[in-house]
Amino acid sequence: MAARKHSRQRDSIKEFLMTREDHPTADVIYRNVRQRSPSISLGTVYRNLTLLAQDGEISRLNLGDGVDRFDGDTSPHYHLLCEKCGGVVDLEMEDISSVLEKAAAHFDGHVAGHVTYFYGTCGRCTKPEGLGAGLPGGTGLPEDTALPEGSGA
Ligand code: ZN
Ligand code: MN
Repeated sequence: MAARKHSRQRDSIKEFLMTREDHPTADVIYRNVRQRSPSISLGTVYRNLTLLAQDGEISRLNLGDGVDRFDGDTSPHYHLLCEKCGGVVDLEMEDISSVLEKAAAHFDGHVAGHVTYFYGTCGRCTKPEGLGAGLPGGTGLPEDTALPEGSGA
């Protein structure tokens, strides 16, 4: 594969993603990258996310809720979708690629891979009201929880 032409916009998308552990959507990435690169368009962000994922520099996650998320951590690991806050968190767990053998055991074709995600309630949402809620800078928060500047009306 020919090396891709260097792109400063692509660099800034990847750099932003490396700072995040909450698996942001393209929309969230766009809103953040735009602050540094005001001329960037949502289409450019989508296109570069696709290229980065194709090149294996980032991971594209699909957790069954109809929206793609992106992960700067490309090492093999598993994810949980929180049904309360909509956040996606990393799961520390053993490798489960042995499911491939189970899948292949009674199958006369070839099993090449599997996609697994989990759903439930993240640690933050499991805690009693008031303990976990509203802490800034966490990873379990939905992506639009930016607190309004200045309060009230
Ligand atoms: Zn949650
Ligand atoms: Mn992850």
